[in-house]
Amino acid sequence: MNVEETGTTRVAVIGAGLVGATFAYALMISGLVSEIVLVDADHERAVGEAMDLSHGVPFVRNVQVWAGDYDDVRDADITVITAGANQKPGETRLDLVKRNLAILRDIIARVTASENRGIIVVVANPVDVLAYAAWKLSGLPAGRVIGSGTILDTARFRHHIGRHFRVDPRSVHAYIVGEHGDSEVALWSSANIGNVPLEQFEAYDEAALAQIFEETRTAAYQIINRKRATYYAIGLGVTRLVEAILHDQRSVLSVSTLVQGEYGVEGIYLSLPCVVGAGGVLARLSPPISSDEIAGLHASAGVLRATLAEVGLVRDG
Ligand code: NAD
Repeated sequence: MNVEETGTTRVAVIGAGLVGATFAYALMISGLVSEIVLVDADHERAVGEAMDLSHGVPFVRNVQVWAGDYDDVRDADITVITAGANQKPGETRLDLVKRNLAILRDIIARVTASENRGIIVVVANPVDVLAYAAWKLSGLPAGRVIGSGTILDTARFRHHIGRHFRVDPRSVHAYIVGEHGDSEVALWSSANIGNVPLEQFEAYDEAALAQIFEETRTAAYQIINRKRATYYAIGLGVTRLVEAILHDQRSVLSVSTLVQGEYGVEGIYLSLPCVVGAGGVLARLSPPISSDEIAGLHASAGVLRATLAEVGLVRDG
């Protein structure tokens, strides 16, 4: 008896390290796709991860997981780039940017050569700089090249706010925008729980809120100091992003995208709340924000523009 081939949904993961493999694991459990291909410069690592993941398939919904190459990327609906080096002792931040940019250039050249027509999601750091580079190098429309941006920072922020006010973080509406990094900005002025401004809750306490933002902004350092890397929450966050794209959910997620005049910022990638659906980023939202928040966003944009200029991706100024 012959079992016919049918339509498939494929996600390619470039970089089967801690983030890539954890994302693949979360995606596999989600049941969103029928095929997951892992591509890594260290092919044996990808083979090992694919074997380990595949052995779990009988416990979830059926999905093919394998270690492949760029021929397999051609038919991917979404290509998620998690390949990147970590900072070596004595290496400057700029050296790391240059190293990861070289890796990204190589990957985008191969994805483009494969004639893939899907959406690219960049997760490797510095994510805003690399997502901008991926957009420039791929020649794709900006909406189809998305950085995971502050999707993780926003989740951390909502988690901390929910815990402080003792409500479900899914009922907390609050965003982190700007750079995924030190200069990110908390949009406190529009933060609310079930449409009620935070000031109206008894637990409102400015010092506690300042601490919440500090915990959010420094979370990666705190985790990396303890266990060397972060990967579970970002794995789930990217799965959520993939879900919004594949099911055309038009969900509002804070992702890194080409900003085109919002708050007076233009021509670089940073995170804003965006409507995400089948075409990628379908719209960028500009919630009302305070003058301090606008100043913070301009400072964050300045940091990103300076890095893009340092590596020659934009002109100075
Ligand atoms: P890791 O070292 O565990 O894995 C990186 C993988 O990339 C390795 O398996 C390596 O072999 C592979 N690789 C390197 N060059 C490659 C190439 N040219 N082609 C294919 N594969 C290649 O690192 P990790 O902990 O998984 O982190 C990966 C990246 O994700 C880092 O840049 C990290 O900073 C970033 N990260 C981003 C977020 C976020 O919120 N955006 C969160 C956590 C980590």
